[in-house]
Amino acid sequence: MSLIEILAARIRETGPMTVADYMSECLLHPEHGYYTTRDPLGAAGDFTTAPEISQMFGELLGLSLAQAWLDQGQPAPFSLAELGPGRGTLMADLLRATNAVPGFHNAAEIHLIEASPALRAAQEKALAGFDVHWHAGVEALPDQPLFLVANEFFDALPIRQFRRAGDGWQEKLVGLEGGALAFGLGTAAPQTALAHRLEDTQDGDLVELCGAAGPVTGQIAARITAHGGAALIVDYGDWRSLGDTLQALRSHKRAEVLDAPGNADLTAHVDFEALTLAAKSAGCAFARLCPQGVFLERLGITQRAQALASKLDGDPLTQLIAAHRRLTHPEEMGNLFKVLGLYPAGGTPPPGLDA
Ligand code: SAH
Repeated sequence: MSLIEILAARIRETGPMTVADYMSECLLHPEHGYYTTRDPLGAAGDFTTAPEISQMFGELLGLSLAQAWLDQGQPAPFSLAELGPGRGTLMADLLRATNAVPGFHNAAEIHLIEASPALRAAQEKALAGFDVHWHAGVEALPDQPLFLVANEFFDALPIRQFRRAGDGWQEKLVGLEGGALAFGLGTAAPQTALAHRLEDTQDGDLVELCGAAGPVTGQIAARITAHGGAALIVDYGDWRSLGDTLQALRSHKRAEVLDAPGNADLTAHVDFEALTLAAKSAGCAFARLCPQGVFLERLGITQRAQALASKLDGDPLTQLIAAHRRLTHPEEMGNLFKVLGLYPAGGTPPPGLDA
């Protein structure tokens, strides 16, 4: 049975499903899930991410984390963790850049949170020679200082969608129409988790709720509060996002969300406010949300690009200049992507970010 048949059978049996259930089946179904069955990254895949665009991204994030580790008195041992490491490129670049930081590698225990067997295999290859621990979820991270990065992880977590109707909300659902998958709306009901959205929405507005984002952030924040550490969370999205941001990408092009379940990447914008609320209730401080371009410029991406450029010419030089622009320019990834930093209350944010 194909995934579309599995989903149709399930809807016939138990009724329309939430967008979150649909997303979760499409991305992580053990046999047919988008991430479980393939490596979707890079030119031959469906999308490209910052670490795949240039080594500079992982290097600079690594140096920011390593400086935060030095500023906190070089705790040892500590968890050097990544959520959704893709091909392992970011972690490999981070490790190469921090090789020169005395004691950092010796104190670091590498922990990767990854759901996809295909991508775990790619990570193993990229990080050959390092002792790596894999886990299915953040709750498995050890109770010790935690220095963590996550790039384009939270946008892959399933979201639910609700349309405002008076003081209640109608949930957007995936059902069947003439045998094909189709969106519909549930009946209006109050939603406690959306109480704060009654103040900034009107009838008909659509809002999104990511059930896993808060608990995942809470687990990270609790470790940083108890043992020290820092987190750099990079993703596209904004503060309290509004509107339908669910999108499907296939071969680098936008596709219809319901058209090819399991064969297209599905993502939604990250509501960074929700992450900070979870961090705050775990007693953790967070830096002001910062556009990716500004963050990378503050960390010296232009100087790093100039150093790399001095050894290049021809196509590689043109590619380097394009990569710098792509990562930082406001019309490319520079403004759409944001960086959220978590750090211990009373401490200082990781370099590149402001309190
Ligand atoms: N950070 C990488 C990859 C981003 S793609 C990069 O920037 O290139 C999203 C990553 O998160 C993939 O590695 C995917 O397999 C992983 N992932 C998605 N949902 C997950 C979940 N619920 N639990 C663990 N890993 C997940």
